[in-house]
Amino acid sequence: MKTAYKFRMYPNKQQEAMLDVTLETCRHLYNTALADRKNCYELEGISRSYEDQAATLTLEKKEGKWQGVFSQVSQDVLRRVDKAFKAFFRRVKSGEKPGYPRFKGEGWYKSFTYPQAGFKIEGSKLVLSKIGSIRIFKHREVEGKVKTCTIKKDHLGHWYATLVSEIEDVPPVDPKIAIGVDVGLKNLVALSTGGTIQYPRYYVQAQQKLAIAQRNLSRKKKGSANRRKAKVKVAKISQDVQNHRDEFLHQVSRKLVDSADLIVFENLNISGMLKNHHLAKHIQDHAWGKLIQFTQSKAAKAGKMVELVDARYTSQKCSQCGIIVPKTLADRVHLCPNCGLEMDRDLNACINILTLGLRGRAYRDTAKADQ
Ligand SMILES: [Zn+2]
Repeated sequence: MKTAYKFRMYPNKQQEAMLDVTLETCRHLYNTALADRKNCYELEGISRSYEDQAATLTLEKKEGKWQGVFSQVSQDVLRRVDKAFKAFFRRVKSGEKPGYPRFKGEGWYKSFTYPQAGFKIEGSKLVLSKIGSIRIFKHREVEGKVKTCTIKKDHLGHWYATLVSEIEDVPPVDPKIAIGVDVGLKNLVALSTGGTIQYPRYYVQAQQKLAIAQRNLSRKKKGSANRRKAKVKVAKISQDVQNHRDEFLHQVSRKLVDSADLIVFENLNISGMLKNHHLAKHIQDHAWGKLIQFTQSKAAKAGKMVELVDARYTSQKCSQCGIIVPKTLADRVHLCPNCGLEMDRDLNACINILTLGLRGRAYRDTAKADQ
């Protein structure tokens, strides 16, 4: 199983200059490789492969070109070009009209990757070959064997390192406790055990701050210095909001995985399309997707399971007798005219989600046993 860790980097002036030079060299190499493919094809009808281009790169390096960049990092650039072309041809084949792979203008090449070696973590430093030992903010310990390291510069000029590590799969535990989780209307989530989890106050406040900054930005004159300043402010606060949210979602997913062996969620990819799409909803869906993702990775490490179900009708259906009880968004209580069940609407939905999850698992287990 693979896990990604993203750490902010704090390069000194000299290191930052080297990082920028590396990005520029990679961009230049990317464009050169792209042009090479284009020319070879247009002029001679030859398709250049990754291997062809890697061989050329080795020769050119011997001649003194592309210096200052770790060799595997420059090979990875060629692999990106290869990927772009493969994706392009795949889409042409399937009858689409994709844009031809594009040259990267200044500022449009934002990351480079050490695909195997050339980097290591030493305490709170990340040592990069050809660049140096850079201070990082390591908010989590890296577990497992680190496979790749990608260095990225964001639009605020901050540098980040993303390390992808691999750990061995944990054998599954026999699920004894199961829990159903639903997107609440008022809360972040509602649980089939009857509880709810709400966003913390600091998160709600950060969101309000963001809304104010965005309104402020929209009032600034286009092209003015004040607008530029307001834009940076919005980007900064929005980054804060995201960080707060992720930190909170990590706590929630930890709680879920600690409290149950099988966790059942609504599958947004199925039911999300049926929902209305205003911005607030979109943001909520995004958080929901992240919560599922975080829970899946924590569950995998603990040998526990996450099940995703099609949650259509789960809010309308009676969790006791199965009859459909139509409700509007304003109806907070599920009151069944058939069996008399009365409970909070979110709780009723959660129990339905849990039932669907358990049924799906039981069905699959029988199918497996029949084989
Ligand atoms: Zn009923």
